[in-house]
Amino acid sequence: MTSDSARSEPLTHVLERLGGISPRLESLYKDLHAHPELSFAETRTAGIVAAELKQLGFAVTEGVGRTGVVGVLSQGEGPTVLLRADMDGLPVEERTGLAYASSATGVGPDGKEGPVMHACGHDMHVTCLLGALDLLAGARDSWSGTVVAVFQPAEELGTGAQAMVDDGLFDLVGVPDVVLGQHVAPVPAGVIGCRPGPAMAGGDTLHVRMFGRGGHGSRPEMTVDPVVMAASTVMRLQTVVSREIAGSETAVVTVGAIHAGTKDNIIPDEAELKLNVRSFTPEVRKTVLDAISRIVRAEAVASGADREPEIELVASFPVLVNDADAVDRTMGAMRAHFGEAAVIDPGVVTGSEDVGYLAAASGAALCYWFFGGADPAVFAEAARNGTLGRDVPANHSPLFAPVVGPTVGAGVRAMTAAALAWLGAGANG
Ligand code: ZN
Ligand code: ZN
Repeated sequence: MTSDSARSEPLTHVLERLGGISPRLESLYKDLHAHPELSFAETRTAGIVAAELKQLGFAVTEGVGRTGVVGVLSQGEGPTVLLRADMDGLPVEERTGLAYASSATGVGPDGKEGPVMHACGHDMHVTCLLGALDLLAGARDSWSGTVVAVFQPAEELGTGAQAMVDDGLFDLVGVPDVVLGQHVAPVPAGVIGCRPGPAMAGGDTLHVRMFGRGGHGSRPEMTVDPVVMAASTVMRLQTVVSREIAGSETAVVTVGAIHAGTKDNIIPDEAELKLNVRSFTPEVRKTVLDAISRIVRAEAVASGADREPEIELVASFPVLVNDADAVDRTMGAMRAHFGEAAVIDPGVVTGSEDVGYLAAASGAALCYWFFGGADPAVFAEAARNGTLGRDVPANHSPLFAPVVGPTVGAGVRAMTAAALAWLGAGANG
């Protein structure tokens, strides 16, 4: 069927079915939210994704980069557009109190079982991408080219995108013209945020072991206490950003975990620290990593340790760099659909993302944006009261809970608008 709107505006035509599929998408979201899986263990999620893609007529390859799923739908000659969603949850115990809250557990890399939650909203990314693919597959007369859907594992480890590339992703799907992806954020639903150039921080994960000499808690003079050594190190690390990085630059040093000892009257042998570093330039990154190494070693010396600390670089995320032309083109479509005021530049974000690998490894342009997941009324009230930090929980919080209704619809519309900004004209175009 050819309507006037189909001829004048492919997006309007493609979005006609959104109202009809929304209830099913919203229950899919709640199901994914209730069943989160840790990085590289996304087997249930991958199974659901693969079944949906087959249903929609995509050629599907499973097990790409261990648990990744790739779907390809071609509609004649035209650009190849890669649409990406990540699938993994986090080792967080959910405290949202939602009817569809997670009570799932999973076994982490340390072999220990613990609670799992979709605390970063990757369940929303999967839902919105499946929704956009459903709409695109249902309106093939409105576009031409190839849609490549990439459902990526293990974003939270920073290794999932690389795993898919190493497993031959681009041999499978060819080189895309553009890589498009989105992340739900604690801003009002309907708001889109995107920044050209360096947009998200590079991230480094460090594991540090500091060695003391254990003994009886009553005789500290016979020991080298690694608890005091670690405590002093944590405090001194707070000076890296405040005293060694220029006020015009940005970096973050967080000690997210500290472990030592078993009992009050035993001085343990060692202490372990887990550090997270965020930076936007190679120079700042080097300054921060050098300073961490210097401080950790110096605190061990200051404590009289017999043995040098061990500092291991466990994982690194590259800086996410958005292609300026790709941002112009994609955000032009967002402004036309959501309105000028709804599309903002959020500034540099200290979060990290490995979606950049997919662009860097293929040579494609990258456009990665944020879309709001907060109830607009709740957000406005909290902003007025200066209580955003408390009332609008952010990603990775045990209270993170995107509002389902407007967020799913907005995320589907954003992904669909972005895809159509790159695909060729359809038979009805
Ligand atoms: Zn995350
Ligand atoms: Zn995330």
